[in-house]
Amino acid sequence: MTETRYLVHGVFWDGPAPGPAAASGGRSPAMRLQDPGGALTALTLDAGTRLGFRLAAAGRHCLGHHLVHGPADRDHVLCPDRATAAKGSQCERCFVLDDSRLIHDFHRGGRVPPGLRAYLMQPHWLYVATFANGASKVGTASHLRKWNRLAEQGAVVARYVARAGDGRVVRLLEDMITREAGLPQQVRAAAKAAALLAPAAAVDLDALNGRLAGEARTLLAGAGGEGFVVVDERWARPELSARACSPAARHAYPYDLAAGAHGFRIDALSGSIALASLDGSGLEFVVNLGQLKARVVELGDHGSDVPAVQEALF
Ligand SMILES: [Zn+2]
Repeated sequence: MTETRYLVHGVFWDGPAPGPAAASGGRSPAMRLQDPGGALTALTLDAGTRLGFRLAAAGRHCLGHHLVHGPADRDHVLCPDRATAAKGSQCERCFVLDDSRLIHDFHRGGRVPPGLRAYLMQPHWLYVATFANGASKVGTASHLRKWNRLAEQGAVVARYVARAGDGRVVRLLEDMITREAGLPQQVRAAAKAAALLAPAAAVDLDALNGRLAGEARTLLAGAGGEGFVVVDERWARPELSARACSPAARHAYPYDLAAGAHGFRIDALSGSIALASLDGSGLEFVVNLGQLKARVVELGDHGSDVPAVQEALF
């Protein structure tokens, strides 16, 4: 019997924001997997989830492309032949067909198809997010993904600073904050994972984020122009991320997720980065599950060897 080979699409936080409304239908984050028949399944990632897998093919494979029809309406078209990914997680053909690659030029006057235009013309939020080592960024989220976007980014603290009428205005504001306040629009996943090895104190990260968000609001208030309002609203961090973001002794996961067999228990999750326990070790490791994106795995009862980490404890 051969095990099913799944193509990993990544870790998604599709549930509602935490709060009273979430109690009835709260959904945990999940790793999205594509089976050989083209069906997508969600592997729920929760505190206590045991995750075991073996890399079953070399390299990265194409995840297909998206056709955007409106704010809440899009088709995910899988790659017909699970081709090798030429760049990132797409083959050349799917990259060219993907609507979302046009998003980034829209505010500079780029032409977009009607469905993508409808998506971009929905209200958007501008936020300032701070990660575990204090690295911070400015970013945007569509109204429907207002909370989820920051959950997937793995923010430790974040504040919304403006609500814009559409996705063109919000990106103009984002560029302005980068230009005037020096806040970048990207923090690399590897830097986020390294930061979770030794998170700064929550009170310091909150003070830093509050100051940067305040500076951004001051710039926005002085910017003039139409189509947005300045807001002061905290993002609610998911409960499952709390433990990953609190200072503790932990270690970098020492194995390459591009090959071999791996297995551990997930204790917490921040974005795509897990805090994981290895069997019989009592030690916690930071594992960037984002590295599995576009890779082919077989699930199974595997366990990662406990590395010798004594020298790293002090
Ligand atoms: Zn493709």
